Amino acid sequence: MDTDVLVVGAGPTGMTLANELLLAGVSTVVADRLSRRSELSKAGGVQSRTLEAFDQRGLLEPLLETGNYPTSIGHFAGVPFSPEYARHRLPWRSVPQVAIEGFLERHLATQGIHVRRDHELTGLDQDGEGVTATFAGGTTLRCRYLVAADGAHSTVRSLLRAGFPGQAGKATVLSADVRLSGADQVASHTWTDDGDWVALFPLGTDPQGRELRRLVVGGPGRSVSREVPITEEEIRDGLRRVFGSRVQLLELCYSRRLTNAARQVEHYRHGRVFLAGDAAHIHLPLGAQGMNTGIQDALNLGWKLGAAVRGWAPEDLLDTYHAERHQVGAAVLRNVQAQSLLMDWVGTRDPDVLAAKELFADLTRLPEVQRHLGDLLSGMAIRYPMPGTDTHPLVGRSAPDLDLGPVRAYELLRSGRGVLIDPADRFAKVTDLWSDRVDRAGQGAGTEPMLIRPDGYVCWAGDPDDLEAALGHWFGAPR
Ligand SMILES: Cc1cc2nc3c(=O)[nH]c(=O)nc-3n(C[C@H](O)[C@H](O)[C@H](O)COP(=O)(O)OP(=O)(O)OC[C@H]3O[C@@H](n4cnc5c(N)ncnc54)[C@H](O)[C@@H]3O)c2cc1C
Repeated sequence: MDTDVLVVGAGPTGMTLANELLLAGVSTVVADRLSRRSELSKAGGVQSRTLEAFDQRGLLEPLLETGNYPTSIGHFAGVPFSPEYARHRLPWRSVPQVAIEGFLERHLATQGIHVRRDHELTGLDQDGEGVTATFAGGTTLRCRYLVAADGAHSTVRSLLRAGFPGQAGKATVLSADVRLSGADQVASHTWTDDGDWVALFPLGTDPQGRELRRLVVGGPGRSVSREVPITEEEIRDGLRRVFGSRVQLLELCYSRRLTNAARQVEHYRHGRVFLAGDAAHIHLPLGAQGMNTGIQDALNLGWKLGAAVRGWAPEDLLDTYHAERHQVGAAVLRNVQAQSLLMDWVGTRDPDVLAAKELFADLTRLPEVQRHLGDLLSGMAIRYPMPGTDTHPLVGRSAPDLDLGPVRAYELLRSGRGVLIDPADRFAKVTDLWSDRVDRAGQGAGTEPMLIRPDGYVCWAGDPDDLEAALGHWFGAPR
């Protein structure tokens, strides 16, 4: 083997995965076809669960120190959330994807992983022992496992002939990064009488010192072919129709049209090959979920691949990646499609849709509805199916950041190992049998004992008699 794991694609999914594999102590190669990192503006919104995950790895503070990244207000189907109902410790932030990618690439480089650029994967062949990847030019690389993090037009997905069912794009939306005057005076989400929607999110200050905003314009009168070039005049005209002369375009930095195509690969695992991020699911970036879902795919898969390579993975651990993440991806597609319908991108102006939209807007003002939708988009509603979910409310959910006296629970997760919170020091004997994979924290008066997987999800709490079974289920045979 040339390496344990080959990660194809150095986007946010691939680089997050490489960091997880590094923590798991397995050798990793990251290959990307681009000769240098793309500077194109894509994602701007980072959700609570992703921020939490970076915090669990000790990466959040250094990431936020790289720029000025404002917190922002999310929305569902164009109805903004009210900050007063927000309930997550780390609310949505605008951190541009380019900043995240640059940060992760530098972080990996300091740990000895240098992205192999100009490496376009063109072929793959797998057998019982591993995968042989072929790159343009004919070089090959042999690995135990290969992960496709090669984006929406995934070569790996095509080579596998993996089913990618869903719906083709029926409408387009315009997304542009702009410098504006007067934007502070207007609402972040505005509907016109014609049913068009205009959103303005702060993107912070870019490396050139420009204060940027993300402008998104969609609706019945706005959907044109993706091939039609976007002009400054189109943007000025859009702003004029909605805001009159109050908001003026100063500079157009980046723009593109996006379609509402929605697809998801049928199987996330194909033998020794796994699909993650946009290679596994695509949809309109409504509510800022694509990059976040990809990063969370990587967090779910990383430690499992690490366990398989290190030889302690229980029989079906790798299969839980599909079981856990396919349903999350499907739920994201469903909520994006529901938003698309309610926003009437295609411009049906169907009275039934308009009536549903009006009723929905009323419902969305209710605090409980806002909290529910906020949980859905932020990734905080995720609950993985696992033994114990029917008996304890914490099991399957992301772990709380408990104050354990000398440390926070999240600091313990920086190692990428499992953690047993054992406030009354009751489980030393049993955990000792897994001490090469699980750390035990015998502090935290007032907290409840719980076992946390390396990806930050609680996999046991409650009945002490079930702890040993949970350790075996997630961490393999005792030493
Ligand atoms: C305008 C816009 C706004 C968005 N806003 C948000 C948002 O606010 N929040 C959010 O969560 N998401 C958002 N998204 C979605 C987000 O950008 C994507 O979900 C994210 O880029 C997916 O990351 P990835 O690493 O899976 O794939 P990508 O970022 O596409 O990276 C794939 C990498 O693989 C490489 N590659 C491709 N083929 C090969 C090959 N054959 N061999 C080697 N390398 C290869 C590519 O060069 C690339 O570097 C937005 C998208 C757009 C377009």
